[in-house]
Amino acid sequence: MLSKYPGAVFRGALSGAARRAIPASFLSLRIALPLAMAFSLGLSLAVHQEACAQTDDEQTVKAIFDERLTSGEMYYLLEDLCKNIGPRLSGSEGAERAVTWAKEVMEGYGFDRVYLQEVMVPHWERGNPEQVRIVDVEGGMIALNALAIGGSVPTAPAGITAPVVVVHSIEEVEELGREAVEGKIVFYNRAFDQTVIGTGAGYGGAVTQRFAGPSQAAKFGAVGVVIRSVASNFDDAPHTGGLSYLEDVERIPAAALGFQSADRLVEVLEVQPDARLYMHLSSKWHPDALSHNVIGEIRGSERPDEIILVGGHLDSWDVAEGAHDDGAGTVHSIGVLRTFQKLGIRPRHTIRAVLFMNEENGLRGGLKYAEAAKESGEKHLIALESDAGGFSPRGFGASVDDDVLERFRSWLPLFPQNTISYVNKGGGGADIGPLRRETGTPTIGYIPDSQRAFDYHHAPTDVFETVNRRELELGGASIATLIYLIDKYGLRDEKAQ
Ligand SMILES: [Zn+2]
Repeated sequence: MLSKYPGAVFRGALSGAARRAIPASFLSLRIALPLAMAFSLGLSLAVHQEACAQTDDEQTVKAIFDERLTSGEMYYLLEDLCKNIGPRLSGSEGAERAVTWAKEVMEGYGFDRVYLQEVMVPHWERGNPEQVRIVDVEGGMIALNALAIGGSVPTAPAGITAPVVVVHSIEEVEELGREAVEGKIVFYNRAFDQTVIGTGAGYGGAVTQRFAGPSQAAKFGAVGVVIRSVASNFDDAPHTGGLSYLEDVERIPAAALGFQSADRLVEVLEVQPDARLYMHLSSKWHPDALSHNVIGEIRGSERPDEIILVGGHLDSWDVAEGAHDDGAGTVHSIGVLRTFQKLGIRPRHTIRAVLFMNEENGLRGGLKYAEAAKESGEKHLIALESDAGGFSPRGFGASVDDDVLERFRSWLPLFPQNTISYVNKGGGGADIGPLRRETGTPTIGYIPDSQRAFDYHHAPTDVFETVNRRELELGGASIATLIYLIDKYGLRDEKAQ
């Protein structure tokens, strides 16, 4: 029980003063009784003090959860972001409206300081709806559900038509070689591994085909790429995401197919290996655009120069409301400040919510923030990111030293059952990665349940209606609880810091 509350008075009081003050020779019958009484009084005082410390934290944690579950305030904020701002890809008008929205929301709450941090971001536009069709050997057409992969170059204005070669990995392209690939459209058909329980790993296993597949195919003379969407479910919504072209390789157009569309293509190619694919993409690159990270903070009462950062990213893909990715992280971050404010919790350290711009296709906001923090020498005690959706809380992952990890784990009993039940070693987020690398700031990632995350991820189906109010608010309350405990007790006993 003791280790649960590292800040409690109890530990020092009993083990130090009381025990050492009792030499054995004093323990005669005459004084044994009064001593025992005094001792028991001291003990009960110490126990009382511990009980109070417990009660304080338990009461505060309950207040945090009660507030979030009853007000649902962050859920309605998310609805506003999704329905009144909507898609907000970097450089777009939607992204700029989101910046204004976030600034006004935090100013409206009256946080101590709300400001923008300038950052130049890439500006890619999808253009007209994509057309991808199977052209069968008799010339018949079968339309497929497809989205250009973010960052893809367009096809020629009339589109391209080419035979298809099916592969399951980027290595297979190399094994097949130029002879099999040249002049063709490479179809990366690797499916999401359904046997992995943590779907992040399933995603990680298949995402290379989206990210690195186009340049790999181009190296061997391919004229285009389609991929089976990197998604965990079986509907026909295509899932976009970013790609990375190699510098010295020709840039070829690339699109993601819905799961059922990918199945259709497989079926047709099985009976007609000579069937071709028609692709028409009209995407466009514009010059970099000026945008902003949006930052709000509550100033610390004791250590204002030490920052506890809680963040998510404000941008989303252009085809979605970005409810889970990362509207949830956006309102989780604002929600920590808002919850402290509503409950009258005055933090000791400065609590800073950072809504990063451009996580999805460039990470410029995270890079800019880290560069500025390094330059100014600002001290970040720790940074937490929520970018895994608005689903039920499960745990945290923390890239911290082992003693700090143990301290976090000692707080687990304070979280209500069925919320946070573990703290893994290792964790953070894309946006706070650069801060860690540049300044050595320890990082934490919020881990919600992942079973539905990749059903919606980067797809038009990532909409507000898929967010459950209680799940979203439980996540926000869990994050606010961890921030509250870190602020109160620090990462280590402060004398040792
Ligand atoms: Zn995200």
